Amino acid sequence: MLNANLSSHVFVCLIIISSGKYLNAVVNKTSNRPPLIGVQPITKGEQFTYIKGAPSGPENWGRISPNWKTCADGKFQSPVNINVKLARPKLADLKRAYVAAPARLINGHNNIGVEWVGDAGGIEVNGSVYKLRQCHWHIPSEHTVDGKQFDAELHLVHKNDKGLKAVISTFQTIGQPDSFIGNLTKHIKMLGTKEEIDLGIISANNIRHRSKRNFRYIGSFTTPPCEEGVIWTIGEKVRSVSHDQIQLLKGLHTHEIEGNARPVQRLVGRPIWKFDLPDENDQ
Ligand SMILES: [Zn+2]
Repeated sequence: MLNANLSSHVFVCLIIISSGKYLNAVVNKTSNRPPLIGVQPITKGEQFTYIKGAPSGPENWGRISPNWKTCADGKFQSPVNINVKLARPKLADLKRAYVAAPARLINGHNNIGVEWVGDAGGIEVNGSVYKLRQCHWHIPSEHTVDGKQFDAELHLVHKNDKGLKAVISTFQTIGQPDSFIGNLTKHIKMLGTKEEIDLGIISANNIRHRSKRNFRYIGSFTTPPCEEGVIWTIGEKVRSVSHDQIQLLKGLHTHEIEGNARPVQRLVGRPIWKFDLPDENDQ
């Protein structure tokens, strides 16, 4: 718990870890650092955990603060389980055009992530351009596929000029090292108790997140205040990450013991679509 005495706020890209020792409760602290783009800061006294059944746990996030009511009352909450057989076909609706830009590694305390401070390009969804703002990991995964949970889930968070959000999600399972995390390893180790470290120029094109088959639905951010209206695109292709890399990411954030995956939420009648990207492959 290297950062246990540091402060925190919500950071949309997260790393999650799970060991089942739920009694080792850890709460977030508040931060003097400005809130990350597109994410509400956690104010003092508004703390949450991922400890199942705890007053601060995911079932009770909506009761912790009036500002977090959507976590309990929302009808478009994330993550969800994807039932592959029920996914409805739709036309391909995702174009990517990332470019290298200055970035920094951030310890968001609910997760570890990369925040781009320059124009890192973005994606086009339904005719609207969403700029890449940051990415983070959850350990284990938040979304599930036919009930299966994966070892990690990477979220790339984008925002358009109207403030709408779009997240691209990639599942990871333990195996060969992930090259993008590999390039960050030196910096992650240097991060220690610091809140952020300059990474120089980074391109999201170096992230292995492409998938020919993709799922789409409308949901929310997965941390309080659980803001809705987020367009989710979830790649079916599962990428690899090494055990050591998982441990490295887990060891830095506040939820080292219980992980940082919100449980799946009810669909409440929402459809999940599927589409293939003809120009993509799974390599
Ligand atoms: Zn996330």
